[in-house]
Amino acid sequence: MERVAASGAGAELVHRAAAAEIGFALGIADRSAERLIDRAARLCNDYPEAHAALSAGRIGLAHTTGIVEAGAIIDRPEARAAYAAEVLPVAESETPNRARRLATILAEKHAARTMEKRHAEARAERRVWIAELGDGMAELRAVMDAVSAFAIHDRLSRQAHVVCAAERAERDRALADPLSTSVPQPRTVDQARADQLVDLLLNGEPSSSWAERGAVGLGRLDARVQVTIPVDALLGAASSGDTVSSGNTVSSGGSDTRADALRANASHTAASRGTATLAGHGAIDAETARILAQLTAGWDRVRVDAETGAVLAVDRYRPSEEIRRFLRARDQHCRYPGCTIVPFRSDADHTVDAAQGGETSSRNLSFLCKRHHTMKHRTGIGMRQDAEGVIEWTSALGRRLKDRPVSRVMFAPAGGTLASESSERPVAEPRAA
Ligand SMILES: [Zn+2]
Repeated sequence: MERVAASGAGAELVHRAAAAEIGFALGIADRSAERLIDRAARLCNDYPEAHAALSAGRIGLAHTTGIVEAGAIIDRPEARAAYAAEVLPVAESETPNRARRLATILAEKHAARTMEKRHAEARAERRVWIAELGDGMAELRAVMDAVSAFAIHDRLSRQAHVVCAAERAERDRALADPLSTSVPQPRTVDQARADQLVDLLLNGEPSSSWAERGAVGLGRLDARVQVTIPVDALLGAASSGDTVSSGNTVSSGGSDTRADALRANASHTAASRGTATLAGHGAIDAETARILAQLTAGWDRVRVDAETGAVLAVDRYRPSEEIRRFLRARDQHCRYPGCTIVPFRSDADHTVDAAQGGETSSRNLSFLCKRHHTMKHRTGIGMRQDAEGVIEWTSALGRRLKDRPVSRVMFAPAGGTLASESSERPVAEPRAA
């Protein structure tokens, strides 16, 4: 192998022959085998620490795939080692799906090319195309920026849920009415989402049949996404590698935010590069984040501990909404192990039931999606929450799992680069309309 590998074309042939061999053995296409080889080579060469963790059984294969793919944007070996040191403890305590999202955020800190440059290149590849499915069906596929994709899906989902609820109510009325001759069959949420997409694209507005009956105004349901932006990314300082690192804070609300942020910016020290993140997805480019920041009406100011990344406080006081804002910043998604449903589709759940004396405070609340909220109350699953928002889950058979707030990973600084006097790092979180 080594002998032929010296020449480029020879190496390519050896590679293909090996792929064909593995393809035969595994019963997969040679191109699939090539991808497996490539991933294995990158794991062994670029991330030996992750390979060791996989061999030792501390993480799974899906974890390593996430680590290697997110780490593909890092060129320098020292930067790769630093990224591996940060991402491995995360992978060891999170499910592959969550670990992959956190890996994209961590990899961003160590990448040589900025997210802006990579995003500009990737965005040039946006397109829409069709794949035939047979039986008179086809798939419409689209590649676009992540914020738009999540916003479109959110808007379709919210419209679909309203439509489905109305249809179920209609069915129930028909069932209860002895005179009714037919019972309508409600659509599933998936079907309703697809129908709304067609209506919006072909007619320019959502299906109007329910709106006409005065039941809902679907057109008024806008998309919602949750974007978290460090102050430096907001100011466009990301490319210089600076970050706001003193105890200064950014006020919430419109133009004040930017004015105060500028004052805070005066006390710069070089530290980890801030990365804007989209809840449910991971890192996004700062330019998109800044545009969203300008469009949004409301801001939540989030102060985080510079040592641990733990969320310390979220500003502006109105008891229930105040706590919900805190939880949105701290939790980012449903807290059931491995779940990534975003806060907008989750309930704030009392860890210890209010009926059993549980207080309505951030120490006793966490976001759970509908599915896991129901599961918690209907099955023998137990949960405990500590002062830092870490939740320990206990299964019906007594297995324990710890779920740490995603903010602890997201806001934690890159190792050792923090200014010594800093104790808090302000982070602004807009709620995009
Ligand atoms: Zn969930």
